Amino acid sequence: MSRVSILGCDFDSWSTEQALDEIQGLVSRDEKGYLCTVNVAILMMMRADPRLANFIHGAKMVVADGQPLIWVSRYIKKPLPERVTGVDLVHDLAEMAEKNQWGVYLLGAEQAVVASVADGLKTTFPNLILSGYSDGYFDAQGAKQRAETVRESGAKILIVAMGVPRQEYFIEENWQDFGVNFAIGVGGSFDVIAGVTKRAPLWMQKFGLEWLYRTSQEPRRLLGRYVKTNSQFIYLFFKEIVFGLGNKKGS
Ligand code: UDP
Repeated sequence: MSRVSILGCDFDSWSTEQALDEIQGLVSRDEKGYLCTVNVAILMMMRADPRLANFIHGAKMVVADGQPLIWVSRYIKKPLPERVTGVDLVHDLAEMAEKNQWGVYLLGAEQAVVASVADGLKTTFPNLILSGYSDGYFDAQGAKQRAETVRESGAKILIVAMGVPRQEYFIEENWQDFGVNFAIGVGGSFDVIAGVTKRAPLWMQKFGLEWLYRTSQEPRRLLGRYVKTNSQFIYLFFKEIVFGLGNKKGS
């Protein structure tokens, strides 16, 4: 399987539909694996966080969740077909799970939020087997209990929405215990689906400005983070890709 390497991360060259086909194949064959959606901020976090980087390198599937990554893939003449987002995958996975009668477990966000996502999915997909859901606020002992609950639920698909890298650490630590075939971390997607936070308008997504929209909603918390990761990304793009310096050339 050929992957496209960008600044040290290898991306599967898939559309959302292709990613869904791969997931469907994996679960149908009773195999196990997890998918990571990587955006610019996560790509930069990987460079400072070896644990996060290892987790993503170990993923069965890695997709690009950001327009700037699509632009870079075109620049290096290995174009990725489109961005694949966690928010979209939640809906599509529920549809797939309903069709195949696979149980889904939702884990993350506040209890009222995840309950609202569960209700919404049950309304849209009435025959969906919702194996269970629970919030994403717990300590180390709570994590073990959550993993046990997921296993006992018999779910085949686990969707975790606890932010990065919290959700990755949680999946990594408990991967053997969940008993699911497929897991995915979807960051703050449950908040978006429940309407607690808004998704950037389409034109902002197309221009790679999703981060600006998120920052406008929570400037105090997010401005510093995105200024840092975006400028680091631009710097590394020129250094390692345009000028080919360093050992992580994007080709
Ligand atoms: N969240 C969670 N458990 C935690 C912290 C956060 O489930 O211990 C949820 C939070 O409710 C939200 C999502 O993770 O739905 C993303 O949170 P946040 O925006 O704080 O994460 P970030 O994107 O900043 O990493």
